[in-house]
Amino acid sequence: MADAAGPVLVLGAAATGKTTLLVDAVAARIRAGALPPLVFALTRQAASELRDRIVRAAGRTTLAPQVMTVHAFCLTLLARFADAEDAAPGLLTAPEQEFRIRELLLGSPAPWPAELEAALGTRAFATQARAALARARHLGLDPHELTDAAAAAREPGWGALGAFMAEYLDVLDAEQALDYAELVHRARLLLERPPVLAALRAEIAAVYVDEWCELDPAQIGLVRALAGDALPVVALADPDTAIYRFRGAHPRAAAEFGPLFGDGSVAPRVVALGVAHRRPPEQVAACTAVARRLGVPALEAGAVQAYRAATGGGSGRLDVCTFPDSATEARHIAGELRAAHLDHQVPWGDMAVLVRSGRTQLPPLARVLTDAGIPVEVAGDEIGLGAELAVRPLLVGLEVAAAGGVPDADQATRLLTCSWGGLDAVALRSLGRRLRAADPRAVGTPTDELVAQALAGRRPLPDGADAVAARRDLLARAAALVAAGSRPEAVLWELWSGTDWPERLRADAVRGGDASPRAHHDLDAVCALFDLARESLGPGGEAGVAWFVAEVANQQIPADSQREAAVAGRGVRLLTAHRAKGRHWRFVVVAGVQEGVWPDVRRRGSVFDPQRLGAGATGATLGAGITTRDLVATERRLFLLACSRAEGRLLVTAVEGTDGEDDRPSRFLTELGVPVRHLLTAPPRLHTLRALVAELRRVAQDATVSEGLRDAAAARLARLADAVDDDGHPLAPDADPARWWGVREPTGTRAPAGEGPIRLSPSQVESLLTCPRKYFLAREARAEPPREIRTILGSVIHAVAERAASGELGPGDVDAALDGVWADIPFPAAWLSASERAEADAAVRRFLAWQEGHDHADLVGVEVPFAAEVTVDGRQVRLVGAVDRLERREDGSLKVVDFKTGRTKPSQAAAEATPQIGVYQLAVEAGGFGEPAPSAGASLVYLRVEDGENWPKEFRQPSLRERPHLTDDPAELAYPTWVHHQVARACDVLEAGRFDAQPGEHCTYCPVRSSCPARSGQVVS
Ligand code: SF4
Repeated sequence: MADAAGPVLVLGAAATGKTTLLVDAVAARIRAGALPPLVFALTRQAASELRDRIVRAAGRTTLAPQVMTVHAFCLTLLARFADAEDAAPGLLTAPEQEFRIRELLLGSPAPWPAELEAALGTRAFATQARAALARARHLGLDPHELTDAAAAAREPGWGALGAFMAEYLDVLDAEQALDYAELVHRARLLLERPPVLAALRAEIAAVYVDEWCELDPAQIGLVRALAGDALPVVALADPDTAIYRFRGAHPRAAAEFGPLFGDGSVAPRVVALGVAHRRPPEQVAACTAVARRLGVPALEAGAVQAYRAATGGGSGRLDVCTFPDSATEARHIAGELRAAHLDHQVPWGDMAVLVRSGRTQLPPLARVLTDAGIPVEVAGDEIGLGAELAVRPLLVGLEVAAAGGVPDADQATRLLTCSWGGLDAVALRSLGRRLRAADPRAVGTPTDELVAQALAGRRPLPDGADAVAARRDLLARAAALVAAGSRPEAVLWELWSGTDWPERLRADAVRGGDASPRAHHDLDAVCALFDLARESLGPGGEAGVAWFVAEVANQQIPADSQREAAVAGRGVRLLTAHRAKGRHWRFVVVAGVQEGVWPDVRRRGSVFDPQRLGAGATGATLGAGITTRDLVATERRLFLLACSRAEGRLLVTAVEGTDGEDDRPSRFLTELGVPVRHLLTAPPRLHTLRALVAELRRVAQDATVSEGLRDAAAARLARLADAVDDDGHPLAPDADPARWWGVREPTGTRAPAGEGPIRLSPSQVESLLTCPRKYFLAREARAEPPREIRTILGSVIHAVAERAASGELGPGDVDAALDGVWADIPFPAAWLSASERAEADAAVRRFLAWQEGHDHADLVGVEVPFAAEVTVDGRQVRLVGAVDRLERREDGSLKVVDFKTGRTKPSQAAAEATPQIGVYQLAVEAGGFGEPAPSAGASLVYLRVEDGENWPKEFRQPSLRERPHLTDDPAELAYPTWVHHQVARACDVLEAGRFDAQPGEHCTYCPVRSSCPARSGQVVS
């Protein structure tokens, strides 16, 4: 390759030595001392690494290698050859370009079709317009060609985009600015000038192009224009892992290499590299099995066969595993990484975990690995900043500052019960009690509301609440900054620097130990937030802060890829498969390979799909766009790329759970052709100090092991408890029995009694009776994770049914109402969205049929609130809540209907004993809806369960007068009704303050099951 005289296309799979060949060939040319070759690399970082390797390989020479990206080459060209009167252009980064397009669209005089006008100011529209304009430039199209194509296809939206493109280019011209696509376009125009071409060709011996298949048509055209038939071109390609089609990469780049360079004096050659030197044969064979499902590049058959038949020349392992849930999957990965580091001395920086989606898959994985004490590195622009635990309080603080320093109840709780606020749930409740005690009118007001009023300065704080007072003053100062028009960065700094949190984080980070990785991670996240705030293009003041918060929460600020360079290589890399191009590690985990996630076949441009735009012999065309089959093939290439990054061990993982469609392993897993192991548990966690302490504690208290073993464990615990670091801080504080909750004296046998009646909602009663532990952790301690898709869906169906029942929506409006919210539901995959939509349609249809055919007498209302006081065991209990539907019978009795949106129905007996609707009945009888009225019973209507054609399953609960008791249990008979008994039991749990785990079928969907002692068999006393 060093003395290639004509065009050569080198095909090679991962680790077959393409880069080494490129380095050696270029170094040889440089050593020969003639003209240096020009080398094009895919990214700035790849260019820098290649340059270093070539310099090392070339040895002492006066010729410097010219290694650069196509864009850097174009910039050099423009700087050197542009007309003297043209000022040096400014290059717009992707975020700047999008911001500019958004601004221009708002004032665009282009004749946009009426149906698009409402979308013009949205970010999504600007994103799609930017992608379509870039595609047009990649294809070398001018605005009028786009307009012509739109006219031929009768697509007025694309026609308006053509007109907008002309305006956009004029504005950039006037501002002396360029975007990346326009930069390549201008450079190509320069290469059409013979003197420019002659000058360049006189300085270059040959052109080498790495990653040929990732170039877009404009870049390919530029290489062709530069080299022509005068310079040899050596292109290196791996068509099976070409993944940048979404960025405009030419899908037929390899196939067109021959025709493009084939009319010179020397015919193009295609060479295949046949040995993947550092990859084990088993992995190469598995990847080849996946590659065979891809189309065959239209190249010489022998070369393609040799390329696809590469053999492995390294050693290592391949494991494909599935797990019952993502928590077990993440813990298993953590265990494997740590074992590789400790048992096989693999440096942390030589391991990587690759996923398909940075936004949804990286944050939870990063949390688990960090908590397991594994140093991880994530590029600043890869993880959804809004999902970072350390960033959330600062975003809430910004929101509150933008709202004048007045938090709502939820914001106040979130702010105070995090590292920024420094309180825990117990301290917060205690604060609420003291606020209530100081104001007789506040009796009955929930704690979070009282605390919110205090934080807003609308209620005096009790003595001793200095930390809360400091937070209150801080919020007021931040609000004043916003009011004075400050930028988000300044407000953020005020919020961040005004507490001792930064110092606590710094101390944890430098101290080392188990808390150190988490502290480092949090500090990185906060730094990334500050970087984004500094680079934010929005205005200052309230609008700017609100804009910034929304952008970070939606992770829509496309960040600068510079952050990638900031990754130091000292921790396990966590990254998306797209980012793994061109890199290798000794141990690679490809995680979260779920159906619906990988392949991701969602289409990116609903209005302007860039893939619809093509350039034929007769000019621009608007086609049907990329097919689903093509999308799956692109995703398969990406999977192949991920699986080919290991130069040693490869572990591919997925979840195979019980939740139905959304936790099935991807089809790609089986395409690897190796046995899939289903592992039920993660490896034992003995690789961290904290895990060791936990195991020693378990053994020290285990009555089933020998006394000698228990003594040995206790002796080691004692040694660990005494160990301190250089600053005198304990290294393993949890080894000290003084910190073990289980050996402490209980704080009291009864929970402190609150003032006034006990306040209970029907769902609270049900939750307390089902499992007190789950109730406490999910509702009181707020450990509930974000709402799952099924909960959001339930709310949507409820809301639509409510509006239909109130007459706000007619049968003909229901579809439009669902359409209106559907796009905002974050489905992991398009197919899931489609199937759930069909279910939601059916549920609403069943509701309409039920409403139409139901014998209800008189509808009192929907979503009717109630509040009623009852006495049980001498205690005053205030029942509060709202019923889905309330009907009045002819005899004046009231009936409650509760709609359910779950897929599983209870038995008739279970429905009749449902506490929730029983409490509704009690509220009716106790005058919760006005005057006390007899209850006519209650109904549960399951909208997603069919009971006869287009009819929901309905269960009736007899009225409390018809059936006051459900059993002969004397404990129940001691109360007026079975519902009084249930309410009394719920109050007992609250008053006792004991929230024991109560396992049962309900554990399947429990959000706190991963820590449940009833599931793990641990005993917590
Ligand atoms: S897993 Fe079961 S027993 Fe444990 S907290 Fe959840 S519901 Fe209760």
